[in-house]
Amino acid sequence: MKIVVLPKQTFDTEAKITLDAAGKINREGVNLIMNPYDEFAVEEALRLKEKHGGEVTVVSFGGPKVPDILRQALAMGADKAVHVGDEGLEEIDEHTTATILAKLLRDLEYDLILAGWRAIDDGSAQVAGRVAEILGLPMVNMVIKLDIAEGKAVASREIEGGYEVVEVPLPAVITAQKGLNEPRYPTMKGIMQAKKKPMQKLTIADLGLGGEEVAPKVRARRYYLPSPRSQGKIITGEPAEAAAELVRLLREEAKVV
Ligand SMILES: Cc1cc2nc3c(=O)[nH]c(=O)nc-3n(C[C@H](O)[C@H](O)[C@H](O)COP(=O)(O)OP(=O)(O)OC[C@H]3O[C@@H](n4cnc5c(N)ncnc54)[C@H](O)[C@@H]3O)c2cc1C
Repeated sequence: MKIVVLPKQTFDTEAKITLDAAGKINREGVNLIMNPYDEFAVEEALRLKEKHGGEVTVVSFGGPKVPDILRQALAMGADKAVHVGDEGLEEIDEHTTATILAKLLRDLEYDLILAGWRAIDDGSAQVAGRVAEILGLPMVNMVIKLDIAEGKAVASREIEGGYEVVEVPLPAVITAQKGLNEPRYPTMKGIMQAKKKPMQKLTIADLGLGGEEVAPKVRARRYYLPSPRSQGKIITGEPAEAAAELVRLLREEAKVV
């Protein structure tokens, strides 16, 4: 079974977001990690390979540090990696990303494409759906259990107040939600082996793409940081007086009662 996983490199969950002088998100010096939902996708691909045999390819589009997350996936047990660089692209939107990934996927063999349901930084939850649409594939989003048998995927997904179990023919795109599995840590042996596994580097031009095809359709006009939180107040005194003061503050200052 051939599985392709789409991990994205995102800001560390602990990263402090700042804006530069032009009002854009400052990417300098920020620790980058594999998007946590994509770790579930990599883990699921490895479990499926262990059960059914086959090959796991990890594909990511982005800047020069993307090979770090691809090496992580290779160290976890993926077989090969492809990095499509973002050189020459000043602005990127979900259309750009999905167009590039889908173009590459057309040249790969796969029975299943696994992705995260959303990236924790830009968080639009669009890329996997767009890839499925471009490739004309069925897609199941936010999956917490996945079984593959006889050319079909049976996937459970959380819905409001319950679960839904759906079936799709393969090839299909499946996105991972928290709870799908517990991602493994790379072992020392895995880290050493990863250094020898193939990692291909491609440019957008190598894919025969450029110009209007990859120009964003959505442009971020402005980013805002949340306004700083006002300091909390500690009310002291006798319980009855403190309670009365609390009610007064809730009514007159917070205006919530
Ligand atoms: C240099 C730069 C400039 C940008 N400029 C803009 C801008 O002007 N306007 C704007 O709106 N946004 C901009 N972005 C953000 C960009 O739109 C998003 O990074 C991208 O479109 C993916 O959307 P998302 O992160 O919301 O992914 P989601 O749709 O939330 O991701 C869902 C899943 O899709 C897969 N996926 C997503 N991205 C990738 C990837 N690159 N490689 C492999 N798999 C992936 C992962 O499995 C992920 O879990 C910019 C980003 C960069 C790096």
